[in-house]
Amino acid sequence: MRKDYYQILNVHREASDEEIKKAYRKLALKYHPDRNPHNKEAEERFKEISEAYEVLSDQEKRFRYERFGSADDSGSIFDFGFRGNFDDIFNDLFSDFFGGQRQREKKGEDLRYNLQIEFEEAVFGVEKEIEVPKEERCQSCNGSRVEPGHKPAVCKACSGRGQVRQSHGFFTINRTCEYCNGEGFIIKDPCKTCKGRGSIKTKKKLKIKVPPGVDNGARLKLRGEGAQGFAATVPGDLYVVLHVKEHPIFEREGDDIAVQVDVNFPLLCLGGDITVPTVEGETVLNIPPGTQPGKIFRIKGLGVTKSNGYGRGDELVYLNVGIPTELTERQRHLLQELAQEFNGIVNPSRRGIKEKFKEFFDWKE
Ligand SMILES: [Zn+2]
Ligand SMILES: [Zn+2]
Repeated sequence: MRKDYYQILNVHREASDEEIKKAYRKLALKYHPDRNPHNKEAEERFKEISEAYEVLSDQEKRFRYERFGSADDSGSIFDFGFRGNFDDIFNDLFSDFFGGQRQREKKGEDLRYNLQIEFEEAVFGVEKEIEVPKEERCQSCNGSRVEPGHKPAVCKACSGRGQVRQSHGFFTINRTCEYCNGEGFIIKDPCKTCKGRGSIKTKKKLKIKVPPGVDNGARLKLRGEGAQGFAATVPGDLYVVLHVKEHPIFEREGDDIAVQVDVNFPLLCLGGDITVPTVEGETVLNIPPGTQPGKIFRIKGLGVTKSNGYGRGDELVYLNVGIPTELTERQRHLLQELAQEFNGIVNPSRRGIKEKFKEFFDWKE
């Protein structure tokens, strides 16, 4: 759902910059985290207020927010911040009518879409369908806002200049013509299809192929799927920014996937088979006798598709030595016996093992 920034700041829709600033200051002071320590609700409110102010205090952002909104229903954020060319659009319209020399904007605005995907989807690739709001040039009036067959009338108040001169004694001041809002013309027959907006809001479904091996923050560029723009000749591009969800077990390390496995210390001493999760199911890993803590095992080819598209990284298995915090009577007895045994005999071929057992047991000699 689109957030109502006006409601959040408790201001009316026509509020001036000054009023917005005042409202923000008042609320920010009230909900500032310093004044509300350990208050989650106040913290959330403060974030919301700041977000609303950031948008409404910026003329360009406010304009876009009103025209397009800022969030679609799946919660993905739309951000029109790549290129701002709305001024150009209006300049273009102006020059279209009056043959001005201003350069036409060639390309529509680039759009950004944040897409969240699962860890496994990033590893293996996935096809997703997204819905993008589009503001497309009205086909009927070709963006001119005028009903076909009609022409905009030159504003009589300013004779098409968009500005009027006002004399105050010796001074002459130019100000924007209020009859035509500075456009110099008045549309008496607005286009019926777009109700004189020059553009039409549409939604477009797009299939997106996420290639295997993408990482968090990767951007996919969809050429020509951005905004058309009113007077642009070429539509902008759409950038899909990928956000990979964290996995409870797996973690990315470049092209490798890291996994932490808990083992007990007898297994390290004696060796044995352990079951290890991989992105393709469980596999058995053999731990040789005398394995030192901190040893990393590498399972070839079970990582992520490499960014060059050839081959896959590995899975890295990190062994965590689990030390029991509670012992049964029998375990305690056996460990005490073992401790005594080690106290006397240290295998000279494995230097430092005594020290390591000391760490394991917090063992006092
Ligand atoms: Zn139209
Ligand atoms: Zn005028």
